[in-house]
Amino acid sequence: MEYEAVIGLEVHAQLLTKTKIFCSCSTEFGAPPNTHTCPVCLGMPGVLPVLNRKVVDYTIRMALAINCTIARESRFARKNYFYPDLPKGYQISQYELPIAEHGHVFIEVNGKRRRIGITRIHMEEDAGKLIHDPHRPVSAVDFNRTGVPLIEIVSEPDIRTPEEAGAYLRQLRAILQYLEICDGNMEEGSFRCDANVSIRPVGTDTFGTRAELKNMNSFKHVENALIYEIERQEGVVEDGRKLVQETRLWDEAKGVTVSMRGKEEAHDYRYFPDPDLLPLVIDEGWTEEIRSSLPELPDEKRARLIEAYDIPLYDAQVLISSRLLADYFEACAEHFPEPKIVSNWVMGSILGMLKAENKTIEESPVSPERLAELLRLIDSGVISGKIAKTVFDEMVSSGKPPETIVQEKGLVQVTDTDAITDVVKQVVSNHEKEVSDYRAGKTKLFGFFVGQVMKATRGKANPKMVNEILKKELEQ
Ligand code: ADP
Ligand code: MG
Ligand code: ZN
Repeated sequence: MEYEAVIGLEVHAQLLTKTKIFCSCSTEFGAPPNTHTCPVCLGMPGVLPVLNRKVVDYTIRMALAINCTIARESRFARKNYFYPDLPKGYQISQYELPIAEHGHVFIEVNGKRRRIGITRIHMEEDAGKLIHDPHRPVSAVDFNRTGVPLIEIVSEPDIRTPEEAGAYLRQLRAILQYLEICDGNMEEGSFRCDANVSIRPVGTDTFGTRAELKNMNSFKHVENALIYEIERQEGVVEDGRKLVQETRLWDEAKGVTVSMRGKEEAHDYRYFPDPDLLPLVIDEGWTEEIRSSLPELPDEKRARLIEAYDIPLYDAQVLISSRLLADYFEACAEHFPEPKIVSNWVMGSILGMLKAENKTIEESPVSPERLAELLRLIDSGVISGKIAKTVFDEMVSSGKPPETIVQEKGLVQVTDTDAITDVVKQVVSNHEKEVSDYRAGKTKLFGFFVGQVMKATRGKANPKMVNEILKKELEQ
């Protein structure tokens, strides 16, 4: 029997507002414990929550970007449960009437474009954080995070493979980052995901029993957890056993999912409308104002880069992975209008260097203008492509302009025919055996001679001239 997976994702994204969702405490990450708190977010008796307008603004932005319908009227609801990181004993969320529904995004995996439906987006407050003491049987609680605004984005069960789940998450994260409403940092927990997965025989269209996977804090973890879980479910079914609906935790170190709780132990949250908050009414004017201020989104940017710069889809895909990377590329292409050369350098040297230096594109020690200067030096024949790599490394470490480095280090390319001919003659006379082998038909040796000439000129000889002159010398 062949099975296919059915996957639906619930994503929580922390919004980048300055203050919390229902009080004016700061949302800043990393402050000393319990310094960003007040009676409202500590859940003291008698306090009243006041909705932060920016949270609604940001949520509408995301909702429009992923093609949702905005509800004219939505409601906040209390989700009741006890946990030490939840001082009120309930979380303010949305339930029956969420702010947005019926959206979709497109993803592309292995050249196949698929539409993934968005069931709903709702706003809610985050809980605090428990810190467990590894040495003593005590836990401390930090309420700085209570009341930090979140949106939850629930997908339809339209995803079919772990790879598609990864693509969907990357797409959502890129959109949130383009909108500048979430930093998308999975390690710090500002972008989190629960994955629901079931299997069914290929060709059927009913749904199987799902497991909900938690505790994955990178895209890779989500994909790994899904791969494991799909296989596990297939094993259970093949053994003739029955799957149960349950919540399972991913253990990255062991590479397995472990049952956390079954359906019977699932919480009954006793949701009801929060009497402290009025229904939220959003008029057409507000929505339209936000719609008209949306930035160019990843899909549009990809299409425009391909069209305007005539670069391959692959390049465009890499470049749009962040808005700032695409900006960098465009700035450089403006100063050096050979887009494919620019994209090669951005995807290769720049991204490689940023990874090695553990820096983001904003922190790049090489500005787009400087990179363009370097590319002009190659283009005009002042330095070879090979020397350019050395100059680039020096630009990274010293921050100097490429011209200065070329001057100081005497890296100007040798384009003098006589000088190159001298070196070629030397190499030819020093390698009699190789020369006779070459002349006897072992033409593969040509690369060896090029290498020798380059070595002798410390990489500075113009490669095209070296090729021509060598050919002439060897073939006489
Ligand atoms: P809950 O709060 O119980 O997790 P939600 O409706 O918030 O329920 O989320 C359910 C998620 O699970 C959605 O993303 C949905 O697409 C997905 N889902 C529902 N049924 C299945 C199923 N049989 N297999 C896989 N995913 C499913
Ligand atoms: Mg769920
Ligand atoms: Zn507060």
